[in-house]
Amino acid sequence: MNTVERLSLKRELGKLGIRGEYLEGWQPREDLWRHKPGLNNFGKEVKPVGSVVANQPSDWDHKLRLAVRGTLPWRPTRDCQCKACRDRDWDKAVIDEEGQISMIAEEEPSPFQAFEDPPKPIVPDETKCPDCDFVVRADSKSPKASLRFHRLGKHSEAKVA
Ligand SMILES: [Zn+2]
Ligand SMILES: [Zn+2]
Repeated sequence: MNTVERLSLKRELGKLGIRGEYLEGWQPREDLWRHKPGLNNFGKEVKPVGSVVANQPSDWDHKLRLAVRGTLPWRPTRDCQCKACRDRDWDKAVIDEEGQISMIAEEEPSPFQAFEDPPKPIVPDETKCPDCDFVVRADSKSPKASLRFHRLGKHSEAKVA
């Protein structure tokens, strides 16, 4: 590889968030790690993030293709600058003993959630008397006081708030 090729490759890798020193330590064959999950044709995750892609050949085309798919020569970590790792919500990531990363599933809201919600406290309507048809006039300066006045007069036996 000549200098021009090297520089342009460095640029390409740079766009992917891959560090320059990666090039210096490039081994002929090496293990890579998935920073994005491997998906099957149906988009289902079949290879988790953090799984090893072992013994990959050293040709640049191949490595660049893998890098584009998020397979890189270091483990995915919180400090990794690749897009997949920067976008990952590491606080929800669970890393197993093999270094494979899974995400804590967001809790699906129960379809019955609507019925499980505690009933809202009833806010007393301050313009309507609960004991008769009295409604405070819309132009009242102080509906609460008007209602209280009404209730003291008409419902003196009732508990007046
Ligand atoms: Zn990464
Ligand atoms: Zn009343």
